[in-house]
Amino acid sequence: MTMEVLVAGAGPVGLAMAAELARYGVSVRIVEKAAQRTDKSKALVVWSRTLELMDRMGCTPTFLAAGRKATAANMFAGSKRLAHIEFGGVDTPYPFALMIPQSETEHLLEQHLNGLGVQVERSVELLQFAGDASRVTSTLRHADGSEETVESAWLIGCDGAHSTVRHGLGVGFEGDTMTSDWILADVHVEDMPAAADVNVFWHADGVLAVFPISETRFRVIADGGESKGSQPPPDPTMEQVQQLLDDRGPGGVRATDPIWLAGFRINERKVKDYRVGRVFLVGDAAHIHSPAGGQGMNTGIQDACNLAWKLALVCHGTCAPEPLLGSYSIERSAVGEEVLKAAGRVTTIAIMRGEVKQTIRNHIAALVFGFKPVRDEMAEMMTEISIGYPDSPLNGPGNSEHETPRAGERAPIRVGETPVGGGERPRFALCTEWDAKTAQLLAKFPTLLEAEVRRPYSDDGLWLIRPDGYVALATRRGEEDLVEEYLEKLSLSNN
Ligand SMILES: Cc1cc2nc3c(=O)[nH]c(=O)nc-3n(C[C@H](O)[C@H](O)[C@H](O)COP(=O)(O)OP(=O)(O)OC[C@H]3O[C@@H](n4cnc5c(N)ncnc54)[C@H](O)[C@@H]3O)c2cc1C
Repeated sequence: MTMEVLVAGAGPVGLAMAAELARYGVSVRIVEKAAQRTDKSKALVVWSRTLELMDRMGCTPTFLAAGRKATAANMFAGSKRLAHIEFGGVDTPYPFALMIPQSETEHLLEQHLNGLGVQVERSVELLQFAGDASRVTSTLRHADGSEETVESAWLIGCDGAHSTVRHGLGVGFEGDTMTSDWILADVHVEDMPAAADVNVFWHADGVLAVFPISETRFRVIADGGESKGSQPPPDPTMEQVQQLLDDRGPGGVRATDPIWLAGFRINERKVKDYRVGRVFLVGDAAHIHSPAGGQGMNTGIQDACNLAWKLALVCHGTCAPEPLLGSYSIERSAVGEEVLKAAGRVTTIAIMRGEVKQTIRNHIAALVFGFKPVRDEMAEMMTEISIGYPDSPLNGPGNSEHETPRAGERAPIRVGETPVGGGERPRFALCTEWDAKTAQLLAKFPTLLEAEVRRPYSDDGLWLIRPDGYVALATRRGEEDLVEEYLEKLSLSNN
């Protein structure tokens, strides 16, 4: 076999996937049917949890240097502010939304991938594939029309909403197309108030959202009412964009110099299983939803981070394929389901029609968002800090009910610590006081555990943290045998 993993598609998710595998020393090829990277700004927000995960990859500093921090989101009804949600209180080293166009995100991820010695093979399309128990055989078409047959141990479909891999697997992409039209405009806006925040305006005619891209450049999204016909709406004109800003927005602002104008419809779809044998679906290939909340690309990059360390441990022969690889679909499908539902709910509320319903909605929103705990919960949800895997088959036993963070939860990040999973091989971290028992564990599992123990979250607690920063097992000191059993189950030699 010429490589262990073939990644189809070099959007943000494929790039992150290939980079994580390469960083962990897995041989990977990444093919992309388009001749060039996108020049479209599409996904604008990189959320806190993605930045935390990218920190393990070594990418976050370059992203921070290239992006713009939005520290709050506002919701207005006319001139009345219904909600002001601050991200600053979220317990993360990155308590903000990093605004950066997807074209730039892809550029930075590709540079990072190149730095790991992997080049994207452009104008190379995955045509078809067939998997058996030991390999996947794929057919690639090159720019000159020639075809190449390649074998890999695993195939990962990061090939977007119209995924060839998903079609090849014959799995359903269940869901709906929403019955409303949307317009998108990347424009320069003069005199935008609260210009550094994300601003959402609920209006009788529909919703308008304005996201900062740079000091003068903004993304405007607005719903254009009930869909008429089966085709997506035409791209808006600048006159329409200005009219929407005048009618629904803060007033007194002027849109100029369009960079991208587009009409679109929202699809809400998801596959049930993200894996069939040796083939995985990651990112938009597995789930697409409303851009409300800006979670699409973030969810995809986090899918990639979830799968990469598991696949690396299997490729290196450190761990058996199960239960590690089986957990990818269980964990990420549950997250995808939640993201889809939440984005759908937010969109439905935002485009609610009828004066009475809208008045009631506005009153309830003003009331509910008056409570700080509600705003804090919303901020944690938006920044994706609250994502976890409470029902994962990888969650170990232990006194989880007494010890927080619990199994399946994100391990809080402590300033100044190197991120778990940031090394050249994916390793679990032990957080506890060092003693003879921990020394025995470190000696027994040198390829699965980091060489040093980390500080515990409480004096008598014992945590095992996964290479993606989620808690595998939370218990008390003295129960080191639970860690031993856990790691033995994962180790190849014990399967
Ligand atoms: C108008 C618009 C606005 C959006 N706004 C937001 C936002 O604000 N926030 C957010 O999070 N998300 C947003 N999204 C969604 C976001 O763009 C996607 O979630 C993101 O691009 C998904 O990345 P991906 O890598 O999974 O798929 P894609 O970006 O679609 O990349 C897939 C790649 O695979 C390639 N490919 C396809 N088939 C093959 C094949 N057979 N062989 C080889 N290569 C192949 C494609 O050419 C493509 O480059 C928006 C999307 C659109 C269209």
